[in-house]
Amino acid sequence: MTPAHYVDGAFRAPAADDSHTFPLIDPVDGTVTGRVPEAGRATVDEAVAAARGALRGPWGALGAAERAAALRAVADGIDARFEEFVAAECADTGKPRPLAAQVDIPRAAGNFRAYADLIAGRHEESYRTAVPGWSGGAGEALNYTVRRPLGVVAVVSPWNLPLLLLTWKVAPALAAGNAVVAKPSEETPSTATLLAEVVHAAGLPRGAFNLVHGHGPGGAGEFLTAHEDVDAIAFTGSTATGTAIMRGAAEHLTPVSFELGGKNPALVFADADLDAAVEGTVRSAFTHSGQICLCTERVYVQRPLFEEFVTRLAGRARALRDYGPMISAAHRDKVLGHYRLAREEGAEVLAGGGVPAFGGARDGGFFVEPTVLTGLPPTARTVREEIFGPVCHVAPFDTEEEALALANDSSYGLAATLWTTDLSRAHRVAPRVEAGMVWVNCWNLRDLRTPFGGVKASGIGREGGTHSLDFFSEPTNVCVSIGE
Ligand code: NAD
Repeated sequence: MTPAHYVDGAFRAPAADDSHTFPLIDPVDGTVTGRVPEAGRATVDEAVAAARGALRGPWGALGAAERAAALRAVADGIDARFEEFVAAECADTGKPRPLAAQVDIPRAAGNFRAYADLIAGRHEESYRTAVPGWSGGAGEALNYTVRRPLGVVAVVSPWNLPLLLLTWKVAPALAAGNAVVAKPSEETPSTATLLAEVVHAAGLPRGAFNLVHGHGPGGAGEFLTAHEDVDAIAFTGSTATGTAIMRGAAEHLTPVSFELGGKNPALVFADADLDAAVEGTVRSAFTHSGQICLCTERVYVQRPLFEEFVTRLAGRARALRDYGPMISAAHRDKVLGHYRLAREEGAEVLAGGGVPAFGGARDGGFFVEPTVLTGLPPTARTVREEIFGPVCHVAPFDTEEEALALANDSSYGLAATLWTTDLSRAHRVAPRVEAGMVWVNCWNLRDLRTPFGGVKASGIGREGGTHSLDFFSEPTNVCVSIGE
């Protein structure tokens, strides 16, 4: 799989100003597996112009049912090349195969099917009203709302769930009738390129979906998101990058939908099913080595359960073997820096805290140990900053109010998890947690129709179901006088 730009319905060699290519690195052993073209400004301009052209051409003329059919064809195309997608996702990210085969790739196809269903079944509201006389005479009027696509949508996505998160935006943007220019993470360009092949084979009109590769700051990401002819930006990534993108977008008042970082809390109440809470926290803290925005990094346990919970969690963390690496040497170093900082801040390290020694090729990879910390105050940087690695800090609490105060004492507000067998407590606490999503006795169960997103520094807006379609379209109210 050689990553390539896909612009105006054609795969293309780097343009004259595509100054260089950069290496693609396998995080499992640190070897170079290929080279990625870096899109220059001219390539980004062409991709945006191709998208604009598609809106004026055959793509813009398609009705919702035809767009739904196109999305279904893309989903079928992903299914047909399932093994290639799984292999490419594992090669780029180093994630264990079950994660790609059971989550990333099926969900990517599912994203296209979900939005095909939604757009095909969408209808607009209409209201027949008696109009008061303040704006030109009383009478009857029929109001209805039409939704138009926003136009050219820039999609910028991260490396942790590369195809899943890219398609989570591309599918609804196309479903709503927009044309897309996508820029995947520079670390994980392969499945996006396969997706372009599938889109091509599915026969989508040229320019409806375009793909450019490259870096963010000073590169393709910045050229795209600050582009004056982009009508909306859908971005998933870090909060710092979201701030930088918003600065560029402000110049043209480009609307944004942002899914950003998190520092997600789990609250384990004394009435919790302890086995479920421990196993659930192992999953929520260590899946994909903690490199999921929804992963738990702060655990608060009611005091009667605290000792047993941390002992069992640390034992489970020490026993983990079959986990993947950090995405890059730079990210591995960042996570190890946090492990060092935690010690400097006075943390007790109950599990991990270093680099595993597997023996063999994996020792050249970017692995860090699953880590359980305790003993830090709420003011410690380790408890406040997103680490994005396989690490959580566990602290005790006494009362429900204290648990809520601790959970909400964060600049982030993406997701939270409650472990309790008390139904009233679950419903009492959940709405008071400052987070876009609260799971009770589970983690990361997703119905794609439900709203997904964060509050505070974790995002702007919601995606999922009709929330995405609302973002990717603009309502126009039409008011028709039907009085005599
Ligand atoms: P990142 O912000 O470094 O990069 C994300 C994307 O933005 C990449 O494609 C990158 O090239 C691009 N980019 C970087 N700087 C840019 C700029 N100035 N202008 C335009 N584009 C730019 O994030 P990452 O390291 O790839 O991913 C990890 C982060 O993503 C974590 O903070 C994680 O919490 C967050 N994340 C959030 C969600 C969510 O749904 N809330 C999901 C996954 C990851």
